[in-house]
Amino acid sequence: MITGDGWSVLSTRFSDKFNRPDREVCLLSLDAIIISEYEQQSLSGSSPLRLQLDGRIADIQVVLNYISNNGKVVLPIDGDGVMSWSSAPKLNGIFLYSYLDSHNFNVALINNYASERNRFLSLLNHNPKAVIISTTFVHRKNDLIELVEDIRSLAPDIFVISGGPFTYLSYLILQKSGDDIYNTSEIQDDFVFLGRQNPRIDLLIISPRGEKILAEALKRIKTNKTTKDLPNSAYLDGGKYCFGPRTDDFEPGEHFNIEWDRLPEDFFSTGVIPMQASTGCPNKCAFCNFTKHPKLISLKQTKELISELEAVSLRGIEYVWFVDDNFRLGKTDLTKVCNDIIDVNPGIKWMSFIHVESLRNVDLELLYESGCKELRFGLESADPQILKNMNKKVDPLFASKIIKKLLALGINCSCYFLIGFPGETEETVIKTIDYIKSLEHPNLKGMFTWSIYPFMLAPLSPIYEYASRKKYALTGYMNKWTHQTMSSDQARKHVVKAFASLNKSGPIYRGDNLAMLEKLSSGQRKNFTIIRHNLSKLSLTTQLTENDIISSFRPILFP
Ligand code: SF4
Repeated sequence: MITGDGWSVLSTRFSDKFNRPDREVCLLSLDAIIISEYEQQSLSGSSPLRLQLDGRIADIQVVLNYISNNGKVVLPIDGDGVMSWSSAPKLNGIFLYSYLDSHNFNVALINNYASERNRFLSLLNHNPKAVIISTTFVHRKNDLIELVEDIRSLAPDIFVISGGPFTYLSYLILQKSGDDIYNTSEIQDDFVFLGRQNPRIDLLIISPRGEKILAEALKRIKTNKTTKDLPNSAYLDGGKYCFGPRTDDFEPGEHFNIEWDRLPEDFFSTGVIPMQASTGCPNKCAFCNFTKHPKLISLKQTKELISELEAVSLRGIEYVWFVDDNFRLGKTDLTKVCNDIIDVNPGIKWMSFIHVESLRNVDLELLYESGCKELRFGLESADPQILKNMNKKVDPLFASKIIKKLLALGINCSCYFLIGFPGETEETVIKTIDYIKSLEHPNLKGMFTWSIYPFMLAPLSPIYEYASRKKYALTGYMNKWTHQTMSSDQARKHVVKAFASLNKSGPIYRGDNLAMLEKLSSGQRKNFTIIRHNLSKLSLTTQLTENDIISSFRPILFP
């Protein structure tokens, strides 16, 4: 049994995430402030349906707070914003910070602008010469416009730079804007360089890996030199974009290793850190528009990986989220990697997206011993024809066997599904829902969770192109589309139906405090997930009372 005190996981080390005044003191004069993310957004169809208590997602620490306060969430919430996968700071910002720091620039990092706006304001007192917006987590031009306008309201004359995936994607779309399907008002509204309204950014770096150009730009800004002739860049002049010359600015496989030992203490304050064991993805799923530049594909040497794990372990990190699109590019040397980690024993628990095929012939017990806590799988559908249409190389039967074995060992599995891809019918959706049910395994040790997305017709994904559109009579854009066998409205209804028909598992709650979950027995964890999901389903149709919620959770959390 766990008492009220038994739940407390906050140590002094984890108590003041990203807001330490002592750190600001040494930032006498800043070269730049880096912004990793504007505000958190999810494209999942099932995530918004999750249980909320007093307007907050019902992560375990929120539920415990709600019970202790007799049906109210009272701040502060013990264990919130730390020791959860979602509390890991963003890797794009950490990478830029480390890169610029190693090139002798004095920079500060804002992990999430919306929640750290006050800190941003106080950093402006250190006279930064530029603000750098990384666009890894930007999906729409309007978000960028809003962010830049807010920055300009606080620092009207500051030099604003943007770069990263969304800026690069926008440039690729501009290249295609001669095609009808890329010359639409929706695209002009959503991507930079197009349409009448654009963010007031002084320098846009257009490269899949623009850090070298960024460093050169900062050097010039510091010495009052122009950035207008920089390669792979653009700037606005009288409402029109001027583009610098295009050059090859990085070598295949080139990478910079983050210097974890040099990073400030507050980067490690949540106990969770992101890392990459590889970059890029060699696959070509038809719905995916991630930047697939072949030169981006690179695999970190196992030796480098282990020394990074050791380095973050020395900084007090307990959990590492490998943010690879596909762990180690789906290489089949996982047994060796696990053995190497076990030999060094950095005491790290880790999670990653992985291609299920790379687990063929892998000793799964070694995976567990190496600290693997959770694996994420993009399974998408249970229907072989839909998987073929998606160009997704997954064997649902093999995936189901592997997931069962992983759950039996106590490795959590979170699986991602996509509803509505061309070819999808009510029958194939039912097949996928039945398949998800077959993966629930409520009696096995590991937790099975899921996220269900409605199909999105995203520019630059293979399915967006003319030939695919013609093949499936596919029309529309992003979350509004129709094809021979389904429409986006129907797909969204199917997502809700899938959410409602799963009874022995639950959706992914990335904000759950992992240390608190680990204090539960595996049976308690399972029951907690199931009860939480069942309450969330009830809350879609009924007004739940405080008593309904407390009396459902209390017997599991305080038996
Ligand atoms: S969906 Fe994932 S596996 Fe498929 S191409 Fe995109 S990143 Fe690669």
